[in-house]
Amino acid sequence: MSSKKHTIVIVGYGGMGSYHAQLIGENEHLEVAGSFDPLRARQEASEAAGYKAYASYEEVLSDPAVEVVLIATPNDVHKEIAVRALQAGKHVVCEKPVAMSSDEFKEMIAAADESGRVLMVHQNRRWDEDFRVIKQMYETETIGALFQIESRVHGANGIPGDWRHVKEQGGGMLLDWGVHLLDQLLFMIDSKVISVSSTLSYILGNDVDDGFEAVLQFENGIKAIVEVGTTNFITLPRWYVKGIEGSAVIEDWSLNGRIVTRNSESEHREPTPIRAGVGLTKTMAPPSEGSTITEALPPAAELPDGFYNNFVAVIEGNAEPIVKNAEVLRVQNLIEAIFAAAEKNEVIKNFDTYEA
Ligand code: NAD
Repeated sequence: MSSKKHTIVIVGYGGMGSYHAQLIGENEHLEVAGSFDPLRARQEASEAAGYKAYASYEEVLSDPAVEVVLIATPNDVHKEIAVRALQAGKHVVCEKPVAMSSDEFKEMIAAADESGRVLMVHQNRRWDEDFRVIKQMYETETIGALFQIESRVHGANGIPGDWRHVKEQGGGMLLDWGVHLLDQLLFMIDSKVISVSSTLSYILGNDVDDGFEAVLQFENGIKAIVEVGTTNFITLPRWYVKGIEGSAVIEDWSLNGRIVTRNSESEHREPTPIRAGVGLTKTMAPPSEGSTITEALPPAAELPDGFYNNFVAVIEGNAEPIVKNAEVLRVQNLIEAIFAAAEKNEVIKNFDTYEA
């Protein structure tokens, strides 16, 4: 990597924009040159943090010292800001969801291709440790080949903020959290999605979904259940997965969890029937003593580099992006299929062109 620091301007200096300033500050190859946000309060916050507040977006684009534009605005304006930056010869890092639709994203990709500049989407949750533990289990078959993956995030705070309530600004939980959970699954599972069904929830009375559940069937036999809820006062585990040799649970982002597998050394003994409710059951009785093994979660799978280090290597021509635009486009298509499945109350097929 070159010893030169690449200069970034943060467009949209809100919650995530100011967090990016911290992330960029931790990277020795990058430097925040300033920010642009139309809100006076956010300009003041930027200046208070020591970053120049540009007076207009035009001023950012015409500043030859600016190499990279980082987009952390509400979702409806990502495309326009990105296309203008690329046309002005800047590289772009764009927050998720990259755009309002796959068509918008295709325009952004075309602008990047025409300018020869890099467009990379901040799908940062590929680096989440809980996800990488599941990825490790998938790749090394710790509990045998996985056949069911349940990925959930639950909160009880409703939809946060303001624009996240507004459909025209790309609000709603499928676009907000769904994009992360779906990106993780498609990044991990090397198989085509052959069908999708879904329901979106509108419990809180917004125009946008306050949660959803989607069921994805992959060609290799894996079924994935993806669920986001903002009205869950009791949360279900972050991950619950089943493999042919066992089951695993990860409760939370602190990685509380365990795996339970069949003990191949133990002789098969029928479980003893138990009273369950007012009935009797052998099927649902706990496995007989010694027939299972409970263990700690395996270590997380490694990725070749962190997001920003990878971005620097990509703009310097030394690496392939870890977050590829073709992958992001595939997730965008899947989101559209999930919206369509919920709206039509149908199973949607033949939308994923992925070749394993
Ligand atoms: P926010 O409301 O806190 O901040 C958005 C900022 O953008 C505001 O300060 C607003 O004034 C500014 N803005 C609006 N229109 C603008 C324009 N045309 N030009 C410049 N600035 C403009 O929202 P947020 O929570 O920071 O979300 C911003 C983006 O970051 C969204 O796309 C969101 O999905 C994404 N995000 C990603 C993560 C992640 O972990 N990857 C987490 C949170 C948010």
